[in-house]
Amino acid sequence: MTKIVNHWIGGRTAEGASGNYGPVTDPATGEVTTKVAFASVEEVDAAVAAAKEAYLSWGQSSLAARTSILFAFRALLDAHRDEIAELITAEHGKVHSDALGEVARGLEIVDLACGISVQLKGELSTQVATRVDVASIRQPLGVVAGITPFNFPAMVPMWMFPLAIACGNTFVLKPSEKDPSASIRIAELLAEAGLPDGVFNVVHGDKVAVDRLLEHPDVKAVSFVGSTPIARYIHTTASANGKRVQALGGAKNHMLVLPDADLDAAADAAVSAAYGSAGERCMAISAVVAVGAIGDTLVEKIRERAEKIKIGPGSDPASEMGPLITKAHRDKVASYVAGAADEGAEVVLDGTGYTVDGHENGHWIGISLLDRVPTSAKAYQDEIFGPVLCVLRTETYEEALDIVNGSPFGNGTAIFTRDGGAARRFQMEVEAGMVGVNVPIPVPVGYHSFGGWKDSLFGDHHIYGNDGTHFYTRGKVVTTRWPDPADAPAGVDLGFPRNH
Ligand code: NAD
Repeated sequence: MTKIVNHWIGGRTAEGASGNYGPVTDPATGEVTTKVAFASVEEVDAAVAAAKEAYLSWGQSSLAARTSILFAFRALLDAHRDEIAELITAEHGKVHSDALGEVARGLEIVDLACGISVQLKGELSTQVATRVDVASIRQPLGVVAGITPFNFPAMVPMWMFPLAIACGNTFVLKPSEKDPSASIRIAELLAEAGLPDGVFNVVHGDKVAVDRLLEHPDVKAVSFVGSTPIARYIHTTASANGKRVQALGGAKNHMLVLPDADLDAAADAAVSAAYGSAGERCMAISAVVAVGAIGDTLVEKIRERAEKIKIGPGSDPASEMGPLITKAHRDKVASYVAGAADEGAEVVLDGTGYTVDGHENGHWIGISLLDRVPTSAKAYQDEIFGPVLCVLRTETYEEALDIVNGSPFGNGTAIFTRDGGAARRFQMEVEAGMVGVNVPIPVPVGYHSFGGWKDSLFGDHHIYGNDGTHFYTRGKVVTTRWPDPADAPAGVDLGFPRNH
């Protein structure tokens, strides 16, 4: 029996009334296991209407009421980590420990949202003029939408909705159609935690659903995470429709290794960050820039480690890396490796022929390592989003920095060195939103915001942390005077008001 995943509107399952369904595949077997409803314009409208109706009371609810529900949700999420991770593995393919890791990082944002009262406490200045006080407060926007990618079906929605609803907004999520089940389980847990109907809604689907959210007059803000071309489109379209937008895009994350670095630590970090989750992470390291004479040693250390990675179904505890999301994506990743030698790279490891016995129809690809990759190569320039690591060589730090800063992407980056001065120089000079010093995947903790520069983010706000609270609220400044009965009447004064 094929499983069916429907929308979640107004606190309950909503069958796909349009009758359009898309297939969901288990990447480890290549089999279609699930049908997911694809929303029509009318179904998106129904979700937005439910969210708008719920906002009337949720937007007025007390911080205590909101946070007690979030605390209950946090406990439920904690208790159901394994179950959600299993749903992720079955549709995304990543190994169970990796799926558990993404749930844990999502939980960090729920933790932050549980403490929203502190972030929303506003500012008060007393006696700015005689008997005049000024308060700055932040209020919710109304209905806000989130559109999320396949590679983190639980974590990325949790980068958005916990803070959005904690701030008093109501939410419509459009998750990736490739792995939709985790979002529905999360919706059920929110309901179990006591979230009122309509505060959190899920519509599945494709461009039809997304475009309706981008143009709907009742959607006040859009958070997007996905590839750069779609992020650019979302930002342009939603902004033109008068919405607040944050659109996080793709990446090509560089790791600089200076000659004084601990090369074993650098090789461990490069392999973990390049091949973890089969490279399908926006913070994956996909380019190592080896500075000076260490190149040969570093490449050899990376090769030794990478060759040992165990590839297999994500549900097998022995697997360290699973399959890619679709067959088409697998073939595209393989094409970069196949073309690399003609582009001037040395192919050290070629994973394109890899398969897993008994799972021949899975979307398998092995580990690929390309050395001396020229910056002109497609394998270097494009976001491959697979287990392919490019190594580039330079003589100096300055050349290496030019390479990093020459990339159109600016998500994360890292430097490996024992020299504090060099690390500090890099952190000041590099054009990227998140920098690691001897940390290969510098994903900020929940109370710092996450976001890239250049083509890795369109909009003014990074996601979660203080930027998240700011994004999901708007400011209001209230200036108050309570005159003393003994004051003489102020009288009419057409002059520009001054404080005294
Ligand atoms: P994607 O851009 O293909 O899809 C993202 C979302 O947009 C999905 O919900 C999808 O249904 C929707 N979408 C796709 N095409 C659309 C179109 N033409 N019009 C409207 N909506 C459309 O991304 P993906 O393949 O699901 O995810 C991988 C990408 O996401 C990678 O590029 C990765 O770097 C990026 N990503 C970035 C971050 C970050 O924080 N910067 C985090 C995770 C993933």
